[in-house]
Amino acid sequence: MALVSRVLVAGAGIGGLCAALALAKQGVHVVVLEQAQALGEVGAGLQMSPNAMKVLRELGLEPELSAFAFVPQHAAIRHYKTGEYYLKSPLGEQAEARYGAPYWHLHRADLHQVLAQACSQAGVELVLNSMVTAYREDAELNQVYVLLEDGREFYGDILIGADGLRSKVREQMLGEERPTFMGQVAWRGVISASDLTVDVKPDACVWAGPGRHFVSYYLRGGDYVNFVAVEERSDWQSESWREEGDVEELRQAFADWHPEVSQLVAAASSTFLWALNGRDELPTWRHGRVVLIGDACHPMLPFMAQGAAMAIEDGYVLAEYLLRYEWSVALTKYEQIRKPRATKVQQMSKANAGLYHMHGGVFGKAKLRALQAAGCFAPQVIQSKLDGVYGHDVITRWAKE
Ligand SMILES: Cc1cc2nc3c(=O)[nH]c(=O)nc-3n(C[C@H](O)[C@H](O)[C@H](O)COP(=O)(O)OP(=O)(O)OC[C@H]3O[C@@H](n4cnc5c(N)ncnc54)[C@H](O)[C@@H]3O)c2cc1C
Repeated sequence: MALVSRVLVAGAGIGGLCAALALAKQGVHVVVLEQAQALGEVGAGLQMSPNAMKVLRELGLEPELSAFAFVPQHAAIRHYKTGEYYLKSPLGEQAEARYGAPYWHLHRADLHQVLAQACSQAGVELVLNSMVTAYREDAELNQVYVLLEDGREFYGDILIGADGLRSKVREQMLGEERPTFMGQVAWRGVISASDLTVDVKPDACVWAGPGRHFVSYYLRGGDYVNFVAVEERSDWQSESWREEGDVEELRQAFADWHPEVSQLVAAASSTFLWALNGRDELPTWRHGRVVLIGDACHPMLPFMAQGAAMAIEDGYVLAEYLLRYEWSVALTKYEQIRKPRATKVQQMSKANAGLYHMHGGVFGKAKLRALQAAGCFAPQVIQSKLDGVYGHDVITRWAKE
């Protein structure tokens, strides 16, 4: 049985680099084609839950990442004005003991840089300034060829489409179809903690309000606070899906919220505004020697903070199958195991929009009260929901196969 020896990856995002690293560490030659001229990530935070941290640990990145991490003490949902807690579920040491890996907050740029360095050390060939436009399979040569915008071509046994929300690889595989605007926009920003006049709790906190919510958490050992402010909108006029946001508009939108929120946005000096997009479940994630991972196949609303975590899980699982099975078996098994998982998390993320935005008036508020009551009298109900996401272990699975 011939296993893959040369793999192409379109996109050097978090998912693409994870897949590349997992393969290269086992001796596969990996070529990553990235459209950007230089590697870099947006100035924003990421919540890295234990399911993703297990993969990053397995890839040997935990010691280096720990220098950049912040360990939140609770996952909280609070009332947007009064600050009353609807949920206060322990993270910190308790999450690590329960799930066998920590729950961390990381700056995207730190995670991306650590991944890129590890890829370089493992021998991954990263080719920048390389926009993938198309691919073709050569059945006689048993290869897939990738065509770049500038006419260059690369060949490999397999092509992994890790090229994000507007994936060219997905487009060729399944047809041109724009992602759906989900009726929400998000302002994102990072503030130096030394600029704050308000005491921000060391939690991963969602502030729930009518038609809006606000997420705040520390980064880099507490030196910075990350915020994501989400607002419902009927349309997105701009062609771009990310643009510089108006800080004054952001401040006004959250001016009458709890001081922890209003003073946070008052301290923001710049922000980016993102259109939040999604896709319905795709009919398939693979065709021939081509396979999709991450946002290329399952973009999701960030309301479970799991988009990057799913891309990390995808990358690792795909690599493990490719290292063990003939490529067509590997791609079949990958899709069978990953599609239901990612689709479920996608749906959970969507459902949280209603909860965080108090949809349904009195009924919506009642849902938050029910959550509050469950937290007091039946915390195991909340825990069991989170266990399915955070307790998922793609590493030990292999020991059982
Ligand atoms: C507001 C917000 C908050 C979020 N918070 C969290 C969180 O806390 N935790 C979490 O787990 N997730 C979070 N996410 C989700 C997360 O950011 C994404 O799911 C994740 O980055 C997807 O990774 P990816 O590698 O699939 O794609 P991307 O990160 O989009 O990477 C794709 C890469 O492909 C490159 N590329 C694109 N097209 C081409 C091409 N044609 N040729 C070559 N290269 C190409 C791009 O330049 C990029 O480098 C959040 C998202 C948003 C919008």
